[in-house]
Amino acid sequence: MWIDTHCHLDAAEFAGEHEAVASDAQRAGVSRIVIPAIGRANFGTVAALAAACQNGAYALGIHPMFVPQADEADLVLLRASIPAALQDPRFLAIGEIGLDFFIPELTVPPLREKQEHFYVEQLKIARDFDLPVLLHVRRSQETLLKHLRRIRVRGGCAHAFNGSFQQAHQFIELGFKLGLGGAMTFTRALQIRRLATELPLAALVLETDAPDLSPAWLHPARNSPAQIPQIGAALAHLRDLPVEAIATATTANALVAMPRLASLY
Ligand code: ZN
Repeated sequence: MWIDTHCHLDAAEFAGEHEAVASDAQRAGVSRIVIPAIGRANFGTVAALAAACQNGAYALGIHPMFVPQADEADLVLLRASIPAALQDPRFLAIGEIGLDFFIPELTVPPLREKQEHFYVEQLKIARDFDLPVLLHVRRSQETLLKHLRRIRVRGGCAHAFNGSFQQAHQFIELGFKLGLGGAMTFTRALQIRRLATELPLAALVLETDAPDLSPAWLHPARNSPAQIPQIGAALAHLRDLPVEAIATATTANALVAMPRLASLY
């Protein structure tokens, strides 16, 4: 059994075949696909898609790259949506939230401050409802950590993690699992492969971020959640462990990161 902890299954790249892509993954052994939201425009879409797929689950949040077009009313709507969402066992977390300091416009006023404001306010929603968060981390590790130390959430997943060992351990100490995916399958990705090999196995979860971040054997073609077992096999190879041990450990770790997943089994 495998879990894809981060997949944008609602993306336009999957138009007309969202459910077929989820069933292909189910047949490949991927029994849960976590679909994060990116903003109010797709809150309903990810919930409906999760319900339509045997292996679907979802999170609600405002993605940092979609903060420019978001406003305060979206934060109010997100908070107001949680009590009803909690009645749905497929709702797991607040996400995708975080900070993107890779895109130049997002690193200067006023968008840098606006990103931080949306991140902080969404951490407060997660804290108030005791929900995990799914974090977008791009050149923003230190600022993300600074706010996590101040606003204590129950943890979650740092998706597509890349950073230093020191930063990795700080996320782990704050209750986070680190998401590994296609990037780890490129032999030139030395730092991610070192993290994948040397971090405690208990800290790792698998993800595709499909349709993006295709593994080496697919690149540049569209990624899909059915790739998770082969991505898991790549991690097994790096750590010199049986594939089954990776499946078991990463599934257990995902359940720790997102406890509401357990009620789905
Ligand atoms: Zn994402």
